[in-house]
Amino acid sequence: MVMAKRSANYIGTRTTAIHAGEAPDPGTGASAPNIVMSSTYVVDEPLGFSVHDVGEEPPYIYSRWSNPTIDALQSKLAALEGTEACLCLASGMAAASAIFLSNLSAGEHAIVSDVSYAGVAELARDTLPRFGIEVSLVDVNDQAAVAAAIRPDTKLVHIETPVNPIMRLTDIAAVCELAHSAGAKVSCDSTFASPIATRPAALGVDYVMHSTTKYIGGHGDALGGAVCGASEAIAALNVEAAIHHGGIISPFNAWLIARGAATLPLRMKAHEETALAVAAFLESHPKVTKVLYPGLRSHPQHDLAARQMDNFSGMIAFQVGSAAEGEAIAGRMMSDLEVIHYAVSLGHHRSLVYWMPTDALMETSFKLEGAQLESYRAYAGDGIFRLSVGLEDAVDLVRDLDRVLE
Ligand SMILES: *Cc1c(COP(=O)(O)O)cnc(C)c1O
Repeated sequence: MVMAKRSANYIGTRTTAIHAGEAPDPGTGASAPNIVMSSTYVVDEPLGFSVHDVGEEPPYIYSRWSNPTIDALQSKLAALEGTEACLCLASGMAAASAIFLSNLSAGEHAIVSDVSYAGVAELARDTLPRFGIEVSLVDVNDQAAVAAAIRPDTKLVHIETPVNPIMRLTDIAAVCELAHSAGAKVSCDSTFASPIATRPAALGVDYVMHSTTKYIGGHGDALGGAVCGASEAIAALNVEAAIHHGGIISPFNAWLIARGAATLPLRMKAHEETALAVAAFLESHPKVTKVLYPGLRSHPQHDLAARQMDNFSGMIAFQVGSAAEGEAIAGRMMSDLEVIHYAVSLGHHRSLVYWMPTDALMETSFKLEGAQLESYRAYAGDGIFRLSVGLEDAVDLVRDLDRVLE
Protein backbone atom coordinates (compact mmCIF):
# COMPACT_ATOMS: atom_id res chain seq x y z
CA MET A 1 0.00 0.00 0.00
CA VAL A 2 1.41 3.37 -0.96
CA MET A 3 -0.18 6.51 0.34
CA ALA A 4 0.08 9.98 -1.07
CA LYS A 5 1.84 12.46 1.17
CA ARG A 6 -0.72 14.75 2.83
CA SER A 7 -0.46 18.41 2.02
CA ALA A 8 1.09 20.48 4.79
CA ASN A 9 -1.38 23.33 4.63
CA TYR A 10 -2.73 23.82 8.14
CA ILE A 11 -4.43 26.88 9.58
CA GLY A 12 -4.51 26.18 13.31
CA THR A 13 -1.62 25.73 15.74
CA ARG A 14 -3.15 22.58 17.26
CA THR A 15 -3.44 20.94 13.83
CA THR A 16 0.11 22.01 12.99
CA ALA A 17 1.49 20.59 16.25
CA ILE A 18 -0.14 17.23 15.55
CA HIS A 19 0.31 16.81 11.79
CA ALA A 20 3.32 18.87 10.64
CA GLY A 21 6.26 16.68 9.68
CA GLU A 22 4.17 13.51 9.76
CA ALA A 23 2.32 11.35 7.25
CA PRO A 24 0.96 7.80 7.39
CA ASP A 25 3.68 5.27 6.57
CA PRO A 26 3.54 4.57 2.81
CA GLY A 27 4.53 0.92 3.32
CA THR A 28 2.17 -0.14 6.09
CA GLY A 29 -0.37 2.65 6.48
CA ALA A 30 0.75 3.09 10.11
CA SER A 31 -0.91 6.24 11.46
CA ALA A 32 1.77 6.92 14.11
CA PRO A 33 5.27 7.63 12.82
CA ASN A 34 7.89 4.89 12.82
CA ILE A 35 11.23 5.36 14.54
CA VAL A 36 14.14 4.93 12.14
CA MET A 37 17.09 3.96 14.35
CA SER A 38 19.36 2.92 11.46
CA SER A 39 22.74 4.65 11.50
CA THR A 40 23.41 3.90 7.82
CA TYR A 41 21.38 3.56 4.61
CA VAL A 42 21.74 1.31 1.56
CA VAL A 43 22.40 3.48 -1.50
CA ASP A 44 21.90 2.64 -5.16
CA GLU A 45 24.15 5.22 -6.79
CA PRO A 46 27.75 6.35 -6.20
CA LEU A 47 27.90 9.05 -3.49
CA GLY A 48 30.79 10.91 -1.85
CA PHE A 49 32.18 10.57 1.67
CA SER A 50 31.96 14.27 2.51
CA VAL A 51 28.86 16.29 3.16
CA HIS A 52 30.29 18.75 0.63
CA ASP A 53 30.06 16.06 -2.13
CA VAL A 54 26.43 15.10 -1.98
CA GLY A 55 24.54 17.95 -3.64
CA GLU A 56 21.42 19.87 -2.72
CA GLU A 57 18.91 17.20 -1.71
CA PRO A 58 20.90 14.08 -0.88
CA PRO A 59 19.24 10.76 -0.08
CA TYR A 60 19.66 9.37 3.44
CA ILE A 61 23.27 8.18 3.71
CA TYR A 62 24.31 8.24 7.36
CA SER A 63 22.29 9.35 10.40
CA ARG A 64 24.77 11.98 11.58
CA TRP A 65 24.05 13.75 8.27
CA SER A 66 20.29 13.23 8.25
CA ASN A 67 17.65 10.82 9.55
CA PRO A 68 13.91 10.60 8.72
CA THR A 69 12.74 10.62 12.36
CA ILE A 70 14.86 13.67 13.19
CA ASP A 71 13.70 15.32 9.93
CA ALA A 72 10.08 14.84 11.01
CA LEU A 73 10.70 16.61 14.33
CA GLN A 74 12.59 19.40 12.56
CA SER A 75 9.66 19.96 10.16
CA LYS A 76 7.20 20.05 13.04
CA LEU A 77 9.22 22.58 15.06
CA ALA A 78 9.91 24.81 12.01
CA ALA A 79 6.15 24.84 11.34
CA LEU A 80 5.40 25.77 14.97
CA GLU A 81 8.04 28.54 15.03
CA GLY A 82 7.03 29.82 11.59
CA THR A 83 10.58 29.47 10.24
CA GLU A 84 11.86 27.90 7.01
CA ALA A 85 14.01 25.35 8.80
CA CYS A 86 15.05 23.78 12.10
CA LEU A 87 18.03 21.79 13.32
CA CYS A 88 17.54 19.43 16.26
CA LEU A 89 20.51 18.54 18.46
CA ALA A 90 21.30 16.38 21.50
CA SER A 91 20.43 19.01 24.14
CA GLY A 92 19.67 22.66 24.65
CA MET A 93 23.35 23.21 25.42
CA ALA A 94 24.29 21.55 22.10
CA ALA A 95 21.95 24.06 20.43
CA ALA A 96 23.55 27.00 22.27
CA SER A 97 27.11 25.88 21.51
CA ALA A 98 26.11 25.26 17.87
CA ILE A 99 24.98 28.89 17.55
CA PHE A 100 28.02 30.34 19.33
CA LEU A 101 30.74 28.18 17.76
CA SER A 102 29.35 28.38 14.22
CA ASN A 103 28.85 32.16 14.22
CA LEU A 104 31.89 33.42 16.13
CA SER A 105 35.59 33.30 15.26
CA ALA A 106 38.74 34.45 17.01
CA GLY A 107 38.96 38.24 17.11
CA GLU A 108 35.18 38.71 17.02
CA HIS A 109 32.81 39.99 19.68
CA ALA A 110 29.53 38.74 21.11
CA ILE A 111 26.99 40.32 23.44
CA VAL A 112 25.34 37.82 25.77
CA SER A 113 22.58 38.52 28.27
CA ASP A 114 24.15 39.00 31.72
CA VAL A 115 21.51 36.64 33.10
CA SER A 116 20.80 33.49 31.15
CA TYR A 117 20.51 29.76 31.60
CA ALA A 118 23.50 28.92 33.85
CA GLY A 119 25.15 26.59 31.31
CA VAL A 120 24.90 29.24 28.58
CA ALA A 121 26.28 31.91 30.95
CA GLU A 122 29.28 29.72 31.81
CA LEU A 123 29.89 28.75 28.15
CA ALA A 124 29.86 32.42 27.13
CA ARG A 125 32.01 33.66 30.00
CA ASP A 126 34.51 30.80 30.41
CA THR A 127 34.74 28.90 27.10
CA LEU A 128 34.38 31.44 24.27
CA PRO A 129 37.28 33.66 25.46
CA ARG A 130 39.58 30.60 25.28
CA PHE A 131 39.00 30.66 21.51
CA GLY A 132 39.79 34.37 21.23
CA ILE A 133 36.16 35.47 21.20
CA GLU A 134 35.42 38.52 23.30
CA VAL A 135 32.14 38.46 25.22
CA SER A 136 30.32 41.38 26.82
CA LEU A 137 27.75 40.35 29.41
CA VAL A 138 25.05 43.00 29.13
CA ASP A 139 21.67 43.64 30.73
CA VAL A 140 19.82 43.20 27.41
CA ASN A 141 16.67 44.56 29.04
CA ASP A 142 18.46 47.96 28.98
CA GLN A 143 18.47 49.09 25.33
CA ALA A 144 20.97 51.90 25.99
CA ALA A 145 23.36 49.33 27.47
CA VAL A 146 22.98 47.12 24.37
CA ALA A 147 23.57 50.09 22.05
CA ALA A 148 26.67 51.09 24.04
CA ALA A 149 28.09 47.55 23.96
CA ILE A 150 27.74 47.07 20.19
CA ARG A 151 31.06 47.38 18.32
CA PRO A 152 32.08 47.09 14.65
CA ASP A 153 33.26 43.51 15.29
CA THR A 154 30.07 42.43 17.14
CA LYS A 155 28.74 39.40 15.29
CA LEU A 156 26.11 37.98 17.64
CA VAL A 157 23.72 39.20 20.33
CA HIS A 158 22.27 36.40 22.48
CA ILE A 159 19.14 37.01 24.53
CA GLU A 160 16.77 34.84 26.56
CA THR A 161 13.15 35.76 27.36
CA PRO A 162 11.67 35.19 29.87
CA VAL A 163 15.08 34.64 31.41
CA ASN A 164 16.08 31.81 33.71
CA PRO A 165 15.68 32.04 36.67
CA ILE A 166 14.32 35.55 37.39
CA MET A 167 11.57 35.84 34.72
CA ARG A 168 12.93 39.13 33.37
CA LEU A 169 11.73 39.84 29.82
CA THR A 170 13.64 41.29 26.89
CA ASP A 171 12.02 43.37 24.15
CA ILE A 172 12.95 41.11 21.23
CA ALA A 173 12.09 43.50 18.37
CA ALA A 174 14.03 46.38 19.96
CA VAL A 175 17.20 44.29 20.42
CA CYS A 176 16.92 42.94 16.84
CA GLU A 177 16.72 46.47 15.47
CA LEU A 178 19.84 47.55 17.38
CA ALA A 179 21.83 44.43 16.46
CA HIS A 180 20.81 44.29 12.80
CA SER A 181 21.58 47.95 12.21
CA ALA A 182 25.15 47.11 13.32
CA GLY A 183 25.31 43.98 11.13
CA ALA A 184 25.11 41.52 14.05
CA LYS A 185 22.87 38.45 14.18
CA VAL A 186 20.51 37.75 17.07
CA SER A 187 19.87 34.45 18.81
CA CYS A 188 17.07 34.06 21.32
CA ASP A 189 16.67 31.28 23.87
CA SER A 190 12.90 30.85 23.82
CA THR A 191 12.77 27.77 26.08
CA PHE A 192 10.63 29.41 28.81
CA ALA A 193 8.18 30.85 26.27
CA SER A 194 7.80 27.90 23.88
CA PRO A 195 6.62 28.56 20.30
CA ILE A 196 3.07 28.87 21.64
CA ALA A 197 3.87 32.02 23.65
CA THR A 198 6.38 33.79 21.42
CA ARG A 199 7.62 33.48 17.85
CA PRO A 200 10.92 35.38 17.98
CA ALA A 201 11.65 34.88 14.26
CA ALA A 202 8.64 37.05 13.40
CA LEU A 203 10.18 39.78 15.57
CA GLY A 204 13.50 39.59 13.71
CA VAL A 205 15.52 36.90 15.52
CA ASP A 206 17.92 34.94 13.28
CA TYR A 207 18.31 31.86 15.51
CA VAL A 208 15.45 30.76 17.78
CA MET A 209 16.83 28.29 20.31
CA HIS A 210 15.03 25.79 22.54
CA SER A 211 15.91 23.21 25.08
CA THR A 212 13.32 20.72 23.80
CA THR A 213 13.96 18.85 27.07
CA LYS A 214 11.51 21.36 28.57
CA TYR A 215 8.09 22.45 27.23
CA ILE A 216 8.37 21.04 23.70
CA GLY A 217 9.11 17.48 24.84
CA GLY A 218 7.04 18.20 27.92
CA HIS A 219 7.26 14.90 29.79
CA GLY A 220 10.71 14.92 31.39
CA ASP A 221 11.94 11.84 29.56
CA ALA A 222 14.10 13.04 26.65
CA LEU A 223 16.96 15.54 26.40
CA GLY A 224 17.07 17.57 23.20
CA GLY A 225 17.69 20.98 21.67
CA ALA A 226 16.60 22.90 18.59
CA VAL A 227 17.57 25.93 16.54
CA CYS A 228 14.98 27.40 14.14
CA GLY A 229 15.68 29.96 11.42
CA ALA A 230 16.09 30.63 7.70
CA SER A 231 17.03 27.67 5.44
CA GLU A 232 20.47 28.98 4.54
CA ALA A 233 21.48 29.73 8.14
CA ILE A 234 20.20 26.39 9.41
CA ALA A 235 21.88 24.45 6.56
CA ALA A 236 25.21 26.05 7.49
CA LEU A 237 24.61 25.23 11.15
CA ASN A 238 23.78 21.64 10.19
CA VAL A 239 27.09 21.13 8.37
CA GLU A 240 29.23 22.62 11.11
CA ALA A 241 27.43 21.85 14.37
CA ALA A 242 25.64 18.60 13.63
CA ILE A 243 27.78 16.89 11.02
CA HIS A 244 31.20 18.11 12.16
CA HIS A 245 30.83 18.84 15.89
CA GLY A 246 28.59 15.79 16.06
CA GLY A 247 26.02 16.81 18.68
CA ILE A 248 23.13 15.11 16.91
CA ILE A 249 20.01 13.90 18.70
CA SER A 250 19.13 10.22 18.97
CA PRO A 251 16.17 9.33 16.69
CA PHE A 252 14.49 7.77 19.73
CA ASN A 253 14.64 11.08 21.62
CA ALA A 254 13.48 12.93 18.49
CA TRP A 255 10.46 10.61 18.32
CA LEU A 256 9.61 11.15 22.01
CA ILE A 257 9.95 14.92 21.63
CA ALA A 258 7.76 14.94 18.50
CA ARG A 259 5.10 13.00 20.40
CA GLY A 260 5.27 15.55 23.18
CA ALA A 261 5.18 18.47 20.74
CA ALA A 262 1.85 17.22 19.32
CA THR A 263 0.09 18.33 22.51
CA LEU A 264 2.16 21.49 23.12
CA PRO A 265 -0.66 24.01 22.35
CA LEU A 266 -3.07 22.25 24.72
CA ARG A 267 -0.45 21.82 27.42
CA MET A 268 0.64 25.48 27.28
CA LYS A 269 -2.97 26.58 27.73
CA ALA A 270 -3.25 24.39 30.83
CA HIS A 271 0.18 25.44 32.17
CA GLU A 272 -0.86 29.10 31.87
CA GLU A 273 -4.28 28.61 33.46
CA THR A 274 -2.86 26.73 36.45
CA ALA A 275 0.14 29.05 36.81
CA LEU A 276 -2.19 32.07 37.03
CA ALA A 277 -4.11 30.39 39.86
CA VAL A 278 -0.93 29.34 41.70
CA ALA A 279 0.66 32.80 41.21
CA ALA A 280 -2.46 34.47 42.65
CA PHE A 281 -2.31 32.13 45.67
CA LEU A 282 1.39 32.87 46.22
CA GLU A 283 0.83 36.61 45.88
CA SER A 284 -1.79 36.46 48.65
CA HIS A 285 0.32 34.30 50.98
CA PRO A 286 1.77 36.19 54.01
CA LYS A 287 5.09 34.30 53.84
CA VAL A 288 5.68 35.25 50.18
CA THR A 289 7.30 38.65 49.67
CA LYS A 290 7.38 38.77 45.87
CA VAL A 291 5.96 36.79 42.94
CA LEU A 292 7.34 37.16 39.43
CA TYR A 293 4.96 35.82 36.79
CA PRO A 294 4.54 37.63 33.44
CA GLY A 295 0.78 37.10 33.60
CA LEU A 296 0.42 39.07 36.85
CA ARG A 297 -0.18 42.84 36.73
CA SER A 298 2.52 43.15 39.40
CA HIS A 299 5.24 41.85 37.02
CA PRO A 300 7.47 44.87 36.27
CA GLN A 301 7.21 44.13 32.55
CA HIS A 302 3.59 42.98 32.37
CA ASP A 303 2.90 45.34 29.44
CA LEU A 304 5.78 43.92 27.41
CA ALA A 305 4.65 40.41 28.34
CA ALA A 306 1.13 41.15 27.11
CA ARG A 307 2.54 42.53 23.84
CA GLN A 308 5.16 39.86 23.21
CA MET A 309 3.62 36.69 24.64
CA ASP A 310 0.44 34.95 23.46
CA ASN A 311 0.61 32.72 26.53
CA PHE A 312 2.23 33.55 29.88
CA SER A 313 3.68 30.04 30.21
CA GLY A 314 3.96 28.08 33.45
CA MET A 315 7.13 29.47 35.05
CA ILE A 316 6.88 31.38 38.34
CA ALA A 317 9.67 32.81 40.53
CA PHE A 318 8.90 33.80 44.12
CA GLN A 319 10.75 35.18 47.16
CA VAL A 320 10.13 34.50 50.84
CA GLY A 321 12.28 37.00 52.70
CA SER A 322 15.80 36.21 53.93
CA ALA A 323 18.09 33.58 52.41
CA ALA A 324 17.89 31.63 55.69
CA GLU A 325 14.09 31.49 55.46
CA GLY A 326 14.36 30.38 51.84
CA GLU A 327 16.76 27.62 52.79
CA ALA A 328 14.49 26.43 55.61
CA ILE A 329 11.50 26.26 53.27
CA ALA A 330 13.60 24.47 50.63
CA GLY A 331 14.42 21.88 53.33
CA ARG A 332 10.73 21.44 54.13
CA MET A 333 9.95 21.11 50.40
CA MET A 334 12.43 18.24 50.07
CA SER A 335 10.79 16.29 52.89
CA ASP A 336 7.13 17.36 52.83
CA LEU A 337 5.99 18.05 49.27
CA GLU A 338 3.59 15.32 48.14
CA VAL A 339 2.79 16.37 44.57
CA ILE A 340 5.44 18.84 43.44
CA HIS A 341 8.90 17.35 42.88
CA TYR A 342 11.86 19.22 44.38
CA ALA A 343 14.04 19.01 41.25
CA VAL A 344 15.72 21.10 38.58
CA SER A 345 14.40 21.36 35.00
CA LEU A 346 11.03 22.67 33.89
CA GLY A 347 8.20 22.46 31.39
CA HIS A 348 7.15 18.95 32.31
CA HIS A 349 3.65 17.66 33.10
CA ARG A 350 4.89 17.17 36.68
CA SER A 351 5.35 20.36 38.69
CA LEU A 352 8.94 21.04 39.76
CA VAL A 353 10.36 23.53 42.26
CA TYR A 354 13.95 24.51 43.13
CA TRP A 355 15.55 27.03 45.50
CA MET A 356 18.07 29.36 43.84
CA PRO A 357 20.01 31.44 46.41
CA THR A 358 21.45 34.61 44.85
CA ASP A 359 24.93 34.46 46.43
CA ALA A 360 25.58 30.88 45.31
CA LEU A 361 24.37 31.56 41.76
CA MET A 362 26.62 34.63 41.57
CA GLU A 363 29.64 32.58 42.62
CA THR A 364 29.13 29.77 40.14
CA SER A 365 27.25 31.11 37.15
CA PHE A 366 26.64 34.82 36.81
CA LYS A 367 29.42 36.64 38.72
CA LEU A 368 27.58 39.96 38.44
CA GLU A 369 28.73 43.12 40.21
CA GLY A 370 27.60 46.72 40.70
CA ALA A 371 24.52 47.85 38.77
CA GLN A 372 24.04 44.43 37.13
CA LEU A 373 24.00 42.70 40.52
CA GLU A 374 21.56 45.34 41.82
CA SER A 375 19.30 44.74 38.83
CA TYR A 376 19.40 40.97 39.50
CA ARG A 377 18.59 41.53 43.17
CA ALA A 378 15.66 43.75 42.23
CA TYR A 379 14.07 40.60 40.78
CA ALA A 380 15.52 37.86 42.96
CA GLY A 381 16.35 39.43 46.33
CA ASP A 382 18.55 37.01 48.30
CA GLY A 383 17.09 34.07 46.47
CA ILE A 384 14.07 32.77 44.60
CA PHE A 385 12.10 29.61 44.27
CA ARG A 386 11.78 28.65 40.60
CA LEU A 387 8.46 26.88 40.20
CA SER A 388 7.54 25.09 37.00
CA VAL A 389 3.78 24.67 37.20
CA GLY A 390 2.85 21.33 35.67
CA LEU A 391 -0.44 19.93 34.46
CA GLU A 392 -1.84 18.82 37.81
CA ASP A 393 -4.94 20.49 39.32
CA ALA A 394 -4.24 23.90 40.85
CA VAL A 395 -6.01 22.84 44.07
CA ASP A 396 -3.43 20.11 44.73
CA LEU A 397 -0.47 22.38 43.94
CA VAL A 398 -1.79 25.13 46.20
CA ARG A 399 -2.34 22.65 49.05
CA ASP A 400 1.20 21.28 48.60
CA LEU A 401 2.75 24.78 48.65
CA ASP A 402 0.61 25.95 51.54
CA ARG A 403 1.86 23.02 53.63
CA VAL A 404 5.56 23.93 53.23
CA LEU A 405 5.11 27.74 53.43
CA GLU A 406 3.55 27.59 56.91
C1 LIG B 1 17.46 23.68 30.26
C2 LIG B 1 17.79 24.93 29.53
C3 LIG B 1 18.86 24.98 28.64
C4 LIG B 1 19.78 23.81 28.42
O1 LIG B 1 19.09 22.73 27.87
P1 LIG B 1 19.54 21.19 28.07
O2 LIG B 1 18.55 20.47 27.24
O3 LIG B 1 19.46 20.89 29.54
O4 LIG B 1 20.94 21.09 27.56
C5 LIG B 1 19.09 26.17 27.96
N1 LIG B 1 18.30 27.25 28.17
C6 LIG B 1 17.28 27.23 29.03
C7 LIG B 1 16.46 28.46 29.20
C8 LIG B 1 16.97 26.07 29.74
O5 LIG B 1 15.95 26.07 30.61
